[in-house]
Amino acid sequence: MQEEDSEEQKFKCSVCRMTFATRAEYEKHMREKHNMKLPTEES
Ligand SMILES: [Zn+2]
Repeated sequence: MQEEDSEEQKFKCSVCRMTFATRAEYEKHMREKHNMKLPTEES
């Protein structure tokens, strides 16, 4: 049973392959860098 940083960088940009620890960072990156909107649920 090996877990490598399972709580870090869960979110990966499919465009430039950057990784993010939180969805908020990931979404912001997609919006600001790639001008893409994610089909994620907003709470
Ligand atoms: Zn990217």
